[in-house]
Amino acid sequence: MKPPRKLHIKSYGCQMNVYDAQRMVDTLAPEGFVETASADDADLVILNTCHIREKASEKVYSELGRLRLVKDEAARSGRAMNIVVAGCVAQAEGDEIIRRAPAVDVVVGPQSYHHLPQLLARARGGGRAIETEFPVQDKFGFLAAPQPEAIRARGISSFVTVQEGCDKFCTFCVVPYTRGAEVSRPVAKIVDEVRRLADNGVREITLIGQNVNAYHGEGPDGRIWPLGRLLRRLAEIDGIVRLRYSTSHPRDVDDSLIEAHRDLPALMPFVHLPVQSGSNRILAAMNRRHTVDDYVRVIDRFRAVRQDIAFSSDFIVGFPGESEEDFAATLALVTQIGYAGAYSFKYSPRPGTPAAEMRETVCAADMDERLVRLQELIDSQQSAFNKAMIGNTVDVLFERAARNPGQIVGRTAYLQPAHVMASADIIGQILPVRIQSLERYSLLGELAAAPPTQFAFSQPTHSSPMITGA
Ligand code: SAM
Ligand code: SF4
Repeated sequence: MKPPRKLHIKSYGCQMNVYDAQRMVDTLAPEGFVETASADDADLVILNTCHIREKASEKVYSELGRLRLVKDEAARSGRAMNIVVAGCVAQAEGDEIIRRAPAVDVVVGPQSYHHLPQLLARARGGGRAIETEFPVQDKFGFLAAPQPEAIRARGISSFVTVQEGCDKFCTFCVVPYTRGAEVSRPVAKIVDEVRRLADNGVREITLIGQNVNAYHGEGPDGRIWPLGRLLRRLAEIDGIVRLRYSTSHPRDVDDSLIEAHRDLPALMPFVHLPVQSGSNRILAAMNRRHTVDDYVRVIDRFRAVRQDIAFSSDFIVGFPGESEEDFAATLALVTQIGYAGAYSFKYSPRPGTPAAEMRETVCAADMDERLVRLQELIDSQQSAFNKAMIGNTVDVLFERAARNPGQIVGRTAYLQPAHVMASADIIGQILPVRIQSLERYSLLGELAAAPPTQFAFSQPTHSSPMITGA
């Protein structure tokens, strides 16, 4: 038997890249590849890249510089090493990578991972291979399913891609160019995948897609199912106790999704709903296709069916033309909604996007200053939200042993890490935990006999969200 070959894969960016990385590992497992933690002893290194902001793509070239030295060193000791660049930088800058980084053997776009074995064979034959077409086939049908041992090693929480690509064309965003048009996987394929995960110990599924609530997959009845209906079907699968989905677009929140939140206890009351800006003028320039009021109405619809629901969001500061007034409107919206957390980014012009051609750029100093102010406000909301957990009993799904001996860590419904002293038998179970203290972003508590208390959020009317333990 040939000795196993070592594969090191490094993912940048979004959850979809984490999922794609696992599927690449599964696809290469039948070729004899096993994962290794370091690039230094790997026979194959895959960089699974992100192109969403300039910083993310520049990281790839500096990592490739380092890998070239590792590859040269391996060659000196008589060992062949292949380097693959996958993901959205591969898609957007394939030829540039081949030109700038001679150590790279294969460049493969996100829609072609199922061709990796053939591309590698071509590279081993001495050529360099590049594949960044958008083939018509559904790649998911061709990617190998994970082996039971691989599923168990990855833990009790798993991502499942249900939708890929985007047709929205926000003016700042590269996704429609790197991931292509919106495609949804058929319901039956997703159900099979989730069942296989559940049979091997997975308890929590996060459905992912660049625009996950635009999901419109073919159902077993031949009709098109929206995300809410898919969630209902998945909630019936034995073993699945928690469901989440990310990332949603405010325009695509339909009644089926709101009703799923109303009816499904397994669907977690924590929704990532990016708004990007609180100014209608900037939202229009971003081509977001919704106003601030539309967004607030969507939030209200969720809150009307689940009082304990909490939100996170994404914001971009310094979009071309953003005035101090526009930025103040963003702060006002954050204050009005009251988030449990949010991501905020400085606008980064992406080549080929309409916003990159806009002239009225915001200077770096203003962007920096706005980012700090926004993050301070979001941090204060997040910390108020976390502190409000203290003294309450909340459900925690336990995931793994923590760093401190004897401690087990899990997550609350709101994805807050929660630590208790307990035996490892509780991994995979949802148990009530009485929260005693907060250490940075982690909750500390003890297993409780009593059932969890139900949180209720009153509409925030000032700068931090009001959360009351009922
Ligand atoms: N589909 C999601 C939506 O519509 O909200 C977002 C997906 S995108 C991969 C993740 C986040 O990256 C966006 O919500 C946005 O805040 C940020 N982002 C995208 N392009 C950006 C850019 N050019 N500069 C800065 N941030 C950007
Ligand atoms: Fe990008 Fe999201 Fe806009 Fe699609 S909806 S273009 S993924 S920001």
